[in-house]
Order: sequence, then C-alpha cells, then structure tokens
Amino acid sequence: MFSITLLPGDGIGPEVTSAAVKVLKTVAEKFNIEFNFKTELIGGASYDKYSTPLTDEVLSQCYSSDVVFLGAVGGPKWENLPHHLKPEAALLKLRKALGLYANLRPAKIYNSMLSYSSLKEEVLKGTDVLIVRELTGDAYFGEPRGYDEQKGFNTMIYTKEEVERIARKAFELARFRNKKVTSVDKANVLEVSQFWRKVVIDVHKDYQDVELNHMYVDNAAMQIVRYPKQFDVILTSNLFGDILSDIAAMITGSLGMLPSASLGSKYALYEPVHGSAPDIAGKGIANPIAAISSVAMMLKYSFQMDKAAELIENSIENTLTKGYRTKDIYKEGDKLVSTDEMTDKIIEEFDKLFAKEAINVFTL
Ligand code: NAD
Repeated sequence: MFSITLLPGDGIGPEVTSAAVKVLKTVAEKFNIEFNFKTELIGGASYDKYSTPLTDEVLSQCYSSDVVFLGAVGGPKWENLPHHLKPEAALLKLRKALGLYANLRPAKIYNSMLSYSSLKEEVLKGTDVLIVRELTGDAYFGEPRGYDEQKGFNTMIYTKEEVERIARKAFELARFRNKKVTSVDKANVLEVSQFWRKVVIDVHKDYQDVELNHMYVDNAAMQIVRYPKQFDVILTSNLFGDILSDIAAMITGSLGMLPSASLGSKYALYEPVHGSAPDIAGKGIANPIAAISSVAMMLKYSFQMDKAAELIENSIENTLTKGYRTKDIYKEGDKLVSTDEMTDKIIEEFDKLFAKEAINVFTL
C-alpha cells in the first residue's frame, strides 16, 4: 500500500487533482494495489480556514506519507496578503521542509500535438527531454542578498554536496533513458559555474556508461529551440533551470499539459506546472493532462511502476490522437471536451491498453 497526501489547493487545483485521483484509482484497481489518500488544505484554501497557507499539521501529514500530490495554489483573493501569508509561500515552505532538491520537468511532444507548438513539426518530432533543475541553492537562496538605494545584490553559490547530489540524480535518471547528460552552466564567465562543472566531471567518474557533455546556458537556450532532439537529460542549476524549463515548455504547446516532479532524498512531490488559473476555475474546462501526466511520473519515480506510467502516457497520446481536446488546446474540427470528459476518455484508453497487453502485475 502507498500513502498519498493530496493538496488540491486553489482555483483549478481541486478540479485537476480529482482527475489525478480518478486515474490513480483506476491504476490501483487494474494493478491490484492500494493507494491510501489523505486530502489536506494548502494555499488560499488553508489561509481562509487557518490564517496560514500551510499548517504544521499538514506538513506532518506530508512527512508521514509516501508522496505528495499538489494541484495549484494562488488567486486574486489572496494577492494583497503579506508575502509570508500568500498561497505561493506555502509552496516554497513545503519544498524546503521536504528537502526537495531536484525538479524534474519532461518536455515531450505528443505526436498529435505537433502542430500546436510554436516550433516547426520537423524540429519537434521525436523530442523527449528531461530537465533536471537544482532546486535549493543558487542565487535564489544564497546570502548575502538585498538592495538599498544604490545597489541590489544576490549571491550565486553552490556547495560541493549540492552539486554532487543533483549530478548523481541526473546521471541515475539518464541510465533509464538515453544515457546522455548535458550539464548547462556559464563556466566561461562565472566561478560558481566553473566549480559546478568540475564537480559534475568528478561525479561522472561513477557513471561512465552515461555520456556527459557541457553547454553554456546561452547556447543551451538557443539549442533547445533549434534542435531539441539532441538532448536527453539536461542538468542545470536553479536559476538557469528556471528559465530553460519554461523555454522547453513551449515544445509541448500548452501549459495545461506539463507535469513535474520534485524529489528529495526521502520525499517526493508531484504537481502540474501550471498555476491555479483563476480565469477558468470552477468552469469544468481545465485541461487535466498535466495532472494526469504528473501521476505517471509519480508511478515511475516513486513507486517503480514503469508499466503503469507508460500506459498512462500512451492513453493520453491515444486520446489526443482521437481528437479530444479541452478548450485550451482546441482547434476547429477537434472534439471539445470538459475536464471530466477528458479524464474519462483517458481512463477508457487506459482500460483498453491494459486489456490488450494482459499485464501480469507480478512481472512489473
Ligand atoms: P496559470 O498557470 O494559473 O494560468 C496561465 C494561463 O494558462 C491562464 O490563461 C490559464 O487559464 C491557463 N491554464 C493554466 N493551466 C491550465 C489548464 N490546466 N487548463 C487550461 N488552461 C490552463 O498562471 P497565472 O495566471 O500566472 O497564475 C494564476 C495564479 O496561480 C497566481 O496566483 C499564481 O501565483 C499561481 N501559480 C501557482 C503555481 C503553483 O501552484 N505551482 C504555479 C504558477 C502560478
């Protein structure tokens, strides 16, 4: 049995979380396993009830479960709160408390979505990149930091331990993919990047079966849109990863389709990349694919259920191939569906694929 803390949050968060749960329940039934769900408040929903976006009780619940699934937080209602009470503050607190140092964002294109991207089809076809971004260091957390009337400053800093653990994570992930890591830095200008590169090269000695190359971040930004197929795993620091993962996001064409995982040495958090989308909240039209694809990541990275993860991804692909689209990815001629209908269509495909492959869970 696996325990999952659900943090639906605000806006469309609860809508896409219930889609994720529906898929997880299907997986549980088919694969004959049990998921124990516990739903808690986070973000604005938590603030409204407890005057804080994340309570200690919810944190303890997260500590005691195998994984956490988060919908999204935030919205105009809470925008004017002091920084530490804003819904988004809960995310930073949660990531820090759970020691989530590795953010994984796949940028993969579904064949039937090729024409939805701003990039050309021939450039995109076959792209499957995993961005592994360090999440706890760099200029975002480095001290000293601040500004006064005359200057503003941050400290770009990485310790050996921080670079080592994220590099190991990237090499280990690459072993289950195409065995290639591109480490992105700015070693031609920044000392912190020279250090990063040196440590990555050292760690690589333990992973000689994985190919390693290095790229400056400005070139990497260009290469991701020029020829994304050259990448397998991109390993990078917090600031560069923040930017590169959004560039890579454009590969898929829609925010509603991007999953993510944040991993630590003990805990893991899965969440769609998108926010709470207050403009469409409550209308039942949110795209559930990012959330459902985040479930696939959970099954793969936390529960080692690779087959179930693959079936989910293939079910999404098949559903899209059949022309079903939520409003955000709808074009004339497509079959427009709601959040629930899209979820049900994906589950239908899952059932069909499962039956076809006659999977024996004991061989997984
Ligand atoms: P957003 O991601 O919520 O929305 C941006 C646009 O994309 C909107 O037009 C929205 O309708 C659309 N969109 C997003 N997800 C969609 C989906 N699944 N299906 C269909 N359309 C979708 O970003 P924003 O508008 O900048 O932020 C709204 C709120 O969310 C803010 O309070 C922000 O701070 C918060 N936010 C939270 C997270 C998170 O919880 N991880 C991430 C980003 C933003």
